[in-house]
Amino acid sequence: METMAIDIHKNDQSKQSAFNYDDFNFGTQPTDHLFLSEYDHGNWRSHRIVPTQHFSLSPFALCLHYGQTVFEGMKAFRQDNGQVHIFRPEKHHQRFNRSLERMCMPPIEKELFINALEELVRLEQHWIPQDKEVSLYIRPFVFATEPRLGVKVADNYTFCITCTPMGLYYPKPVKVKVETEYVRAAEGGVGYVKCGGNYGAAFYPTQQAKEKGFDQIIWTDAKTHQFLEEAGTMNMMVMLKDTLITPRLSTSILDGVTRNSIIQIARDKGMKVEERAISYQELEDAFNAGNRVELFGVGTAAVISPVYSIQIQDKDYSPYIGDDAMMFQLKTALENIRKGRTKDTHSWNHFI
Ligand code: PMP
Repeated sequence: METMAIDIHKNDQSKQSAFNYDDFNFGTQPTDHLFLSEYDHGNWRSHRIVPTQHFSLSPFALCLHYGQTVFEGMKAFRQDNGQVHIFRPEKHHQRFNRSLERMCMPPIEKELFINALEELVRLEQHWIPQDKEVSLYIRPFVFATEPRLGVKVADNYTFCITCTPMGLYYPKPVKVKVETEYVRAAEGGVGYVKCGGNYGAAFYPTQQAKEKGFDQIIWTDAKTHQFLEEAGTMNMMVMLKDTLITPRLSTSILDGVTRNSIIQIARDKGMKVEERAISYQELEDAFNAGNRVELFGVGTAAVISPVYSIQIQDKDYSPYIGDDAMMFQLKTALENIRKGRTKDTHSWNHFI
């Protein structure tokens, strides 16, 4: 049985007081500490929190060549009463282990994952100001360190957790196009896991769309290109009349924690929710019939990203983004739970 004890080496030179919360780019300023652990001889060992530092890696490290890298993304929030919690860490842990399994990487025990998060966020909680719209973004990741150029499953890994402050992301409504040429993920592939390669492979089609004036891509299924899958790096949701529709999970769709939370909140409100295939034709028909259509992405970073324009086969349509749109009510409901303004009936807030 491996020990879960975490050694803590404090950084006595915090960068927090010099950090400009009113003007910063996401993901450029790490907080003062990171968590590290190494996998060797079948065990995770040397769990420690240390001052933020660079890694030393062999040029032969397997992660650099064959892509054994997976990550998670979650947030810690400060409530109105000052208490800090991490949002649904158990759910992120389950997905982390699904990703690790698919990439032939060793799982992380829940106790280690949760302890490491708690200890780290306790040290870094002063990075979440009380009076600003800022949360702490938490990035756990594992990568293969074994130095070997042969194509093989690595025997050695590093598990790291790092944090960075995050303000409002994608604050503006976005313009998207339905992508019918490139694909993000195919059934049987790795779309349902958070491995680095998924993101690298999405850059090129996304760049092409950006050059044509779009902010994001709506990915379609790899076989027929007719069914909507994800919105950029977010899950996709549609509000058609009084029904919330989102593609059902498959091996090509990431099991988003925000998706799961929004579905639960919608059901709690008594709304109709359908997890099913949705084709772009169905969307076009709804627009052409003059129905009100709300379209939005959901994910940890932005919570909800409203779509104000969607191009389907060279035709532009305008989803509804008025102040009374249901997506904003769902967003507010989720924020109220996080801020402690409404009851957290599903125990999503994990206080540290
Ligand atoms: N899909 C993809 C491809 C993503 O990268 C993310 C962000 N993790 C999501 C959906 C949303 O997932 P979550 O709500 O857990 O952040």
